[in-house]
Amino acid sequence: MARRRIGHNVTRPPRLPDEEPLSFPVARDIQSVPGIPKRDNEVSYYSREAPLESVAVSESASAEWAGAVRMEFAPETAKLYEDFQRRMRPIVDWIKSTRDMEPTAQPSGGDVTETIREAALKLGYSEVGFAPFDPRYVYRSRRPDLNPRLPTAICLALEQDFDATQTIPSLDAERAQGDVYVRQAELSRSFVDLILSLGYKVQVSGPTWHLGPMIPMFVEAGLGQLGVNGQLLSPRFGSRARLQIILTDAKITHDKPVDYGIHKYCALCQVCVLRCPGRALDGQKLWYRGIEKNKLNFARCRPVMTRYSGCGICMKVCPIQKYGMKPVMEHYVETGEVLGKGTDNLEGYTLPDKGYFRPGRLPQFRPDFFAMPRGKTEDILFAEFKERLSDPDRNGAEAPQDAVDEDALWRAFRERLRDTLDRPETTLDMGMDMSN
Ligand code: SF4
Ligand code: SF4
Repeated sequence: MARRRIGHNVTRPPRLPDEEPLSFPVARDIQSVPGIPKRDNEVSYYSREAPLESVAVSESASAEWAGAVRMEFAPETAKLYEDFQRRMRPIVDWIKSTRDMEPTAQPSGGDVTETIREAALKLGYSEVGFAPFDPRYVYRSRRPDLNPRLPTAICLALEQDFDATQTIPSLDAERAQGDVYVRQAELSRSFVDLILSLGYKVQVSGPTWHLGPMIPMFVEAGLGQLGVNGQLLSPRFGSRARLQIILTDAKITHDKPVDYGIHKYCALCQVCVLRCPGRALDGQKLWYRGIEKNKLNFARCRPVMTRYSGCGICMKVCPIQKYGMKPVMEHYVETGEVLGKGTDNLEGYTLPDKGYFRPGRLPQFRPDFFAMPRGKTEDILFAEFKERLSDPDRNGAEAPQDAVDEDALWRAFRERLRDTLDRPETTLDMGMDMSN
């Protein structure tokens, strides 16, 4: 492959006084648009007519299924998630309470962008940026929780341990992820106190309890672009970070989206697509809810995540995660090739029960591996109830002993429904989101 012509150079400022700026070229043939190709009116349309919902809510049946499968297939991971959930419960209560916290001082009225940026980086956040908070990305079930008078999203990323991430899929990597969530929560307590002391209100979204997806606002803040793997690819650590947003009414100057070349680079890289054990990633982009992106096949991904420590191979094999955006983009300009593609160093991984998979080799699974209930548990119960009601023959082997008449059927349904609706809030896997 031949050397590429440079289209533009990207420079990210140093985060701390002793750090060098991060600069690298973006080849002309992978230039696209700053941020992500977007049809704004379609984003608004879908937000209005078909609001987003958290998978912890909309796919609650698969969450329950995953809990049972994990207990049998990967009991150590199940135990890790249980412990994590215990640690996160008070943190989630605190996150929910931030909406009603009052400022502890009078605001100066001046622009506090750099004060807040410096404070976040000094505290230990790995990256910080500012974008307008976009309420179109609030989940349907979280809309009543939103304070609509906070126009700015402070986008905060916290890097995850490099070495543990390279062992994906593993318990160590899951543990590292959980530790980042807990650390994120610790940092945000101090950071929230600081903003309140400047005289402004806040509302925290994440970790574990989110108002909605965060990547769109991180992209608007110039902190990265969306990869084929569905993750934010940051110039400093690729997708090896956990994200959090803090809304505020502080006077802030918003950052701008950047074209890092990712949109087109991913189209020629495709390593995550080729290495996904579940064949869950689609290499072709499509327009979805007003955004041009690659869609993940949830039904192919979740069964793999459930059995293999949250999987995450699509994060591990990404060259931008492994080597950093600067070496990857410089290598592309020099050679027209994807750094590390086709090497064991980048693409190899091990599944505990199946062994090592080198580049070009993927594990095989029986079809029943992917059999998983879809949708909300209560909707599935209701569909079963209706079926049994309209077809008494179905009240056979699977039906409760007393479900031989309609009243008994109704009572059984009601009890199972009540159990489902009364279930306590649970986190989805390693803290992806809460069910309520
Ligand atoms: S988490 Fe695993 S199964 Fe899911 S998309 Fe990534 S690589 Fe594929
Ligand atoms: S592995 Fe390649 S295609 Fe996938 S997100 Fe990373 S850069 Fe994009």
